[in-house]
Amino acid sequence: MHTIDEARRRLQANEAQRRLDAVSSLQVTRNEPLSQHTRFGFGGPASLFADTRCEDAFLEALRIAGSSGLPWLVIGLGTNLIVSDNGFDGLVLRYSGSRISQQGNRIFVQAGAALQELVDCSILHGLQGLESMTGIPGNTGAAIYGNAGAYGASISDRVALVRYFDGEVVRETDHAGCGFRYRDSVFKRRRLEGQAWLILSAELEFPPGDAGAMREKADSILATRNRKYPPEMKCAGSIFKNLILAELPPQAQTVVPPAIVKGGKAPSAWFLEQAGAKGLEQGGVRVTEYHSNTLYNAGGGTAAEFCALVRELKQRVRAMFGIVLEEEVQYIGFDSSELP
Ligand SMILES: Cc1cc2nc3c(=O)[nH]c(=O)nc-3n(C[C@H](O)[C@H](O)[C@H](O)COP(=O)(O)OP(=O)(O)OC[C@H]3O[C@@H](n4cnc5c(N)ncnc54)[C@H](O)[C@@H]3O)c2cc1C
Repeated sequence: MHTIDEARRRLQANEAQRRLDAVSSLQVTRNEPLSQHTRFGFGGPASLFADTRCEDAFLEALRIAGSSGLPWLVIGLGTNLIVSDNGFDGLVLRYSGSRISQQGNRIFVQAGAALQELVDCSILHGLQGLESMTGIPGNTGAAIYGNAGAYGASISDRVALVRYFDGEVVRETDHAGCGFRYRDSVFKRRRLEGQAWLILSAELEFPPGDAGAMREKADSILATRNRKYPPEMKCAGSIFKNLILAELPPQAQTVVPPAIVKGGKAPSAWFLEQAGAKGLEQGGVRVTEYHSNTLYNAGGGTAAEFCALVRELKQRVRAMFGIVLEEEVQYIGFDSSELP
């Protein structure tokens, strides 16, 4: 960036910090290392970082962000983020409000609550539908944003109502208004279009279930997950989205073994495996030996190495099958020319 732009950005950050510091219940820091807020453990600093458990303070911070002239974004627990080694020259906000309450067949949850807390609450009260999502890290707001899911269940299956900030006012939408698709929602699409809708809280509706059976299922899934993704592993789960079989080029459709197609989706791991992904590495970033769609920071890895490895994987799969893999992870602070 030119020095004049840098100077202007610094002035904007100073002014934004002055206004954020005046908001009670908001913790504001300067040059916050984002490597400490992402599970991959790499990425440079955010010029400004503000965190709060208070919804009013979060809304005030969002209004300040919107009028600051700075680039800004909201993060959750950073389990699905790839932050540039140069960091993010703007304002990063996080909402940590985490209240959960159950009434009858409904659960109310604030966006900053860990998804696992919500899953455990549903199981405890014999409310069915989220138990197979046990062990998915991150918070509930981000899970709704990305329509997180596992083993055939997605959070969208149970979401009845979402409260969100549309940049001007707080609104509510029902399930239909969330526009859920596979690992996608209206909240995600709005952000990609540059008009963020930030989730504040949600209500989920459940059919009744057998709490004991659900706990057993959840514990067994968690044990499997912990083998695949040990809690200390610096990773983001699956890097690439699975592929809708019917949308693949005809020659690619014919080579996929029918037994691995689940719910009309072909695992991207299968294509990656055919392309020799397992064990590939770039510096400190590697593909695991046991799953081609899992990359991790083996120690000292950088975002640049991550991008180089992802670029190579995408090229291999495109060359072999004519398929363009799409990342599930989200990139922060990169120039478009740096992205794989
Ligand atoms: C080991 C491991 C296993 C995983 N397994 C799965 C899995 O099985 N299934 C699955 O779906 N995912 C999985 N993931 C991915 C990840 O856990 C999910 O995407 C999760 O929902 C991200 O939550 P987060 O709080 O870390 O969000 P972040 O990574 O911090 O943010 C993700 C996105 O959410 C947005 N966001 C955050 N809060 C809000 C809000 N309040 N309003 C609007 N947008 C918001 C952010 O802007 C960002 O774009 C896995 C990750 C890991 C590390």
